[in-house]
Amino acid sequence: MGTLAYTLRDTAIRLAEVSTTPRLDAEFLAAHALGLERSAMLLRLTDLDTPPDLAALTQRRLRHEPVAYITGRQAFWDLDLVVTPDVLIPRADSETLIEVAIDHFKATTALGQVGPARILDLGTGSGALLLACLSAFPEASGVGIDASAAALAVAQANAARLGFAARLHWLHRSWINADWSDDLGRFDLIISNPPYVETDADLDPMVADYEPHSALFAGSDGLDDYRILVPQLASMLSPGGIAIFEIGHSQADAVSDLASNAGLSTEMRRDLAGKPRALRFSLGIGGMNG
Ligand code: GLN
Repeated sequence: MGTLAYTLRDTAIRLAEVSTTPRLDAEFLAAHALGLERSAMLLRLTDLDTPPDLAALTQRRLRHEPVAYITGRQAFWDLDLVVTPDVLIPRADSETLIEVAIDHFKATTALGQVGPARILDLGTGSGALLLACLSAFPEASGVGIDASAAALAVAQANAARLGFAARLHWLHRSWINADWSDDLGRFDLIISNPPYVETDADLDPMVADYEPHSALFAGSDGLDDYRILVPQLASMLSPGGIAIFEIGHSQADAVSDLASNAGLSTEMRRDLAGKPRALRFSLGIGGMNG
C-alpha cells in the first residue's frame, strides 16, 4: 500500500502484460475502487491513498477481464453507459456510425427536410447506438431489438438512467424468425452493429473469453447476419431513409455486393484508425462510392 501515485505507476507496469492501455486501465480501476470519477481522482492523486480493493481488481484485469466489465461502465459518444457481460462493450470504432448518421441528416436538413423521426436498432445490446442517436436527434423515437432478454434489460436500464425511456420501445426477438419484422412499420434510420466475426477468428482473450459470443460470431465468413438483414432493408426504410451498418474492416466489398443485389446503394466510411467500419445504405440508383 502507499500513495496512489506510486501504486498507479506500479499497477500500469504490471498491466502492460495484458493491455495496450495499461496506465488508463490502472486509473479506471483505481477510480472505481475509490468510488470517484477518473478525472476527480487525477486531480487529487497526491492526497489519496491506495484503495484496498485495487489489488483484487488488478488481478481480474491480469486474467484478461475487460475494464468495462470490472467497473460496469463504458463511455460511448456523449453517454456514460452501464455494461454487463450480457452485452458487447461499446467500442469507439462504432461511433463512426453515429458520425455517418449526423452527417447524413445534417445534409438533408439543409435541404429543408427533417431529421429521422423513427429509428430502429438491430441487435441493440447495451443500447449504445440507439441511445447515442436519440441524443443526437432530439425529435426522434426509437425501437431496439435484441435476441437476448438479458441484453435488453441492460439497454432498458441505460435508457431509464439517461432519461430516454419515454422515446423508446424494446422488442425481444430474433431475425432468425421469418416474421420478425412484420409489425414494425418503416424507419427513417436503421442502425446496426450485428455479429460479424468469423467463427474461427483468433480473438484476443479479453474478447473471446468475456464478451457474449452471440454478439460476435456470424458463421465461417462472419457474414451470416448481413445475409439475413441486408435483403430486408429496402422494405423497412421510409422514402429517403437510410440504414447504417457496422462491418469488419475486410467486409466492405462482400456486404456492398449484398446491398447492390438488394437494390441499395452503398457508401463506406472509415473509422479513426483508417479502417473501413461503416456502410450507409440507401434506396435508389448509384453504386458503391468511397
Ligand atoms: N468489433 C468487435 C471485435 O472485433 C466485433 C463486433 C461485432 O461482431 N459486431 O472485437
